[in-house]
Amino acid sequence: MKIPSNIRFLVIAFVSSFSFSQNYEAKVDSLMSLMTLQEKIGQTVMYGGSWDQTGPIVGSNNGKLIREGNMGTMLNAFTVKGTRDLQKIAVEETRLGIPLLFGYDVIHGHRTIFPINLGMSASWDLKMIEESSRIAAEEASAEGLHWTFAPMVDISRDPRWGRISEGAGEDVYLGSEIAKAYVKGFQGDDLSKPNTILACAKHFVAYGAAQAGRDYHTVNMSEGELRNVYLPPFKATIDAGVETFMSAFNELNGIPTSGNKFTLRDILRDEWGFKGLVVSDYTSINEMIPHGFAKDSIDAARIGMNAGVDIDMMGHVYRKHLKQLVKDGKVNEAIIDEACKRILLAKYKLGLFDDPYRYIDENREATTKYKPEFLAKAREIASASSVLLQNKNEALPLSKDSKSIAFIGPLVKDEYDILGNWAAKGDRNGKAISVFEGVSEYLKSDQILYSKGCEILKDDDSGFDEAISISKKADEIVLVMGEGHHMSGEAASRTNLKIPGVQPKLIKKIREANPDKKIVLVLMNGRPLNLSDEVDLVDAILEVWFPGTMGGAAITDLLFGIVNPSGKLTVTFPRNVGQVPIYYNMKNTGRPIPEYNPNEDYKSNYIDSPNSPLFDFGHGLSYTSFEYSDLKLSSNTLNFSNEISASVTVTNTGKMDGHEIVQLYVHDKVGSVTRPVKELKGFQKIFLEKGESKTVTFTISAEDLKFHNSKMDYNVEPGEFEIAIASSSNFKFKHNFTLID
Ligand code: BGC
Repeated sequence: MKIPSNIRFLVIAFVSSFSFSQNYEAKVDSLMSLMTLQEKIGQTVMYGGSWDQTGPIVGSNNGKLIREGNMGTMLNAFTVKGTRDLQKIAVEETRLGIPLLFGYDVIHGHRTIFPINLGMSASWDLKMIEESSRIAAEEASAEGLHWTFAPMVDISRDPRWGRISEGAGEDVYLGSEIAKAYVKGFQGDDLSKPNTILACAKHFVAYGAAQAGRDYHTVNMSEGELRNVYLPPFKATIDAGVETFMSAFNELNGIPTSGNKFTLRDILRDEWGFKGLVVSDYTSINEMIPHGFAKDSIDAARIGMNAGVDIDMMGHVYRKHLKQLVKDGKVNEAIIDEACKRILLAKYKLGLFDDPYRYIDENREATTKYKPEFLAKAREIASASSVLLQNKNEALPLSKDSKSIAFIGPLVKDEYDILGNWAAKGDRNGKAISVFEGVSEYLKSDQILYSKGCEILKDDDSGFDEAISISKKADEIVLVMGEGHHMSGEAASRTNLKIPGVQPKLIKKIREANPDKKIVLVLMNGRPLNLSDEVDLVDAILEVWFPGTMGGAAITDLLFGIVNPSGKLTVTFPRNVGQVPIYYNMKNTGRPIPEYNPNEDYKSNYIDSPNSPLFDFGHGLSYTSFEYSDLKLSSNTLNFSNEISASVTVTNTGKMDGHEIVQLYVHDKVGSVTRPVKELKGFQKIFLEKGESKTVTFTISAEDLKFHNSKMDYNVEPGEFEIAIASSSNFKFKHNFTLID
């Protein structure tokens, strides 16, 4: 039945007429009482806009689907105009005028691009990370977007996996804190404000543990590991009020995660009480067919909806099959009602029933994107995210008075890869500041020599001669090298973690031609690389990840000591790919047994490589030095109801002011299940002027020491703990406390 337009507006007016104090649920219930089953199913369907810059075209299949009430949400709507046109169809040409919800991958910035997320995590700066997602939400919402498919909170311990670039690294505690910061920034303090967008915790769950680092691959893991390592960042997003979740592509212990009742219902809904909506990943419901879990698309729709996936992203299966599945008694209509209700609730919370166009505003788009203060923040975050991995002979910072510096490498003039993968609508055609532009602002042109030397990937050394001759003319050499942006991110797994192409060869040749010169390697990449050869060939290594729109300016700030590096690794850098997975919070083996095996034979070692990584989790140098002294515990015993504090004095003993990231680690020595050798339990980023000392204090309670035991109870066990406050995860414990009953 078609409802005449005047009545349709009455419906919206009626539904919107509830006062703000009345809860949204009542509004949704009254709207749903008017909806047919087909219309409710329509809300669970998501399609994409066109993939060119013209935006989704009215009259295309999208227009038809919306008009028929067969689409409730969209991804990748490209232009403000296109978004308005589509919203107009939904509001004015459908029976009930229910507005559409527009989603997009706003991952590390929207127009103003911040460093890739792995990079931002290395800032350990929760305030900055929240600011980055606030700015991203400002820009995205000004273009009609209501929802971002971020943050990705997958823990990953495998640099072969390309999507390690999208997360916050390998640590549970840090990952959880960062996950909350992103959610707060995107969603702001009040979702009804038109500059806030829904956040989405993805990919639920354990997607980052793909076997052999191959994207989409099988995950087999104990429930203990799932609960102790992979689930906490997701739970943290709920604590921060996240409104949506995305189910993942991978199977988990034989059950695909987009059809997994255990994770999607038992844990997410029943244990955690999550009330928001769950969207599938792109065709992840259909993928249960090749997984061998659903026999056809009808079966896939049944499994997905029954498991609790509310929206079918791009899969066609809900739209095509849910109605029949209800008729056949395979899906209970009440489950579709629940899904529809959650989707409509999100639309209410965003205020779309009050004004469906409130996010769609060309003027706001024009005045919001690339605001100077956004760009300034992007510059600040890019430098705070960079990690000084090595600085032999104080090669860095460089001096402004250098006679000539050779800038060599395929990424010196790059304005494209520098944005990294998933760069939303970041302009890759000239807006980004390259390293060359950055240094050109700072140095005189006759101080700068340049040669590209080679491409990132091509097997072509024809540019080597020029690069080598330029390097010989210069006083100092800066190499800007790394991966292309497409070499990390989705479906970008690698089996080889070396700097790609002929770049390593060029580094070697340049060192051979300049045995005594300072060589600095600036690295852009989306994952830990194997730098075992390079550490001997160059003096300094500055890891800048893909630093985003203001990357070149931030790198200049760091190279010349205008800003002192402060980032620290949130992932371990292996010596070689054979050590992977390698992470700091591993377990001990039983070997060697000191009292029985004094000769230390049959150790749990490699015969061809040390066990230790090349660069540890938490590692990152500064142009100044920090000394830690005088660790004090307020008590050596902790009980279930009190707290103890641990404090340390940190002194800036070097020649420059700087930030230090002070890290608290604990080791639970004996457990009913074995515990990691060390676990991060706190951190503080402090600023110290040269010569200054500060006391840094952490508090620890029994709550901080809980874990899931073999019965999956979340509890703390009395016993001995070791504790340390350190500047990286590479230290030996010297202090203890006891937890008593
Ligand atoms: C990715 C998601 C993303 C979605 C929508 C998928 O391929 O796995 O992370 O949000 O596409 O673009």
